[in-house]
Amino acid sequence: MYKAHTCSKFILFLVLTSFSVVTFAQTYVVGIEPSFPPWASVSEGEFKGIAPDAVRAIAEQQGFDVEFKSMSFPSLIPALEAGKIDILATGLTVSKKRAEVIDFTIPWWHINLVSLVKKDSGLNAITALCCGSDVGAQSGSTNNDWLTDNLVDNGIDINIRTYPDDTTGVQDLQIGRIDAYFIDSDTASLFIQKNSDSLRIAGVINPHPVSVYALGVKKGNDELLEILNKGEVELYESGEWADIIHEYLPGVAVGDVPGVLPPGISSYEEPIPGYSD
Ligand code: GLN
Repeated sequence: MYKAHTCSKFILFLVLTSFSVVTFAQTYVVGIEPSFPPWASVSEGEFKGIAPDAVRAIAEQQGFDVEFKSMSFPSLIPALEAGKIDILATGLTVSKKRAEVIDFTIPWWHINLVSLVKKDSGLNAITALCCGSDVGAQSGSTNNDWLTDNLVDNGIDINIRTYPDDTTGVQDLQIGRIDAYFIDSDTASLFIQKNSDSLRIAGVINPHPVSVYALGVKKGNDELLEILNKGEVELYESGEWADIIHEYLPGVAVGDVPGVLPPGISSYEEPIPGYSD
């Protein structure tokens, strides 16, 4: 009787201790449009690029799991708003308009905007973006917004053609269906590398406020924002961020993390979870 009692106590002890040591890491679903190299791509079925590699490294360091979900670029922000994904990871530009519907982590990269043209076209920085030019941009992108807000709305004569992804847009440029393609600088440099005999950069724009990339989370998800902000800074300080960047953009100068916090984004003007709270 005594023995049985001791034994059941012991079993209870085992059960309790094993429950207390078994903890399950949280899995976050990461939305990605894998046709935006060097930031997000797919190779042999694996999601590659600066954004997924960095998110994987942050996950390992901060103790969470990730599951990637491939989506079209325009569906990523609605998916985040609807809670179908937890993290949006690509070369996601921070904008005031987007900050109304999602929250951004601290910026981790700075880019310029580039007009790609055919090598033999004769267009320059100005003529590529005026005077009746057919200009391509990815649909739902800040590049499309930049063309509309700064050129079309100011009476500059361009016809914007939108594409579901940059590869399709650049193909249309190469076959002469459009005159220029308006794209982020890192991605443009990769297209140029692969097609240096047929494409060139006609002009570079350094927009104001600056164009910076960050990760996106659902509005109000401060818990995740805090983890990701901490993760970005730790990744940068450990040197792993520079290693990831250089794997895709060899030799490029790596800016500080956090990068510039663009003005007018309310969440950057309050204490930032995981960074300045
Ligand atoms: N930087 C652009 C944007 O955020 C394009 C991003 C992309 O992943 N295609 O709109």
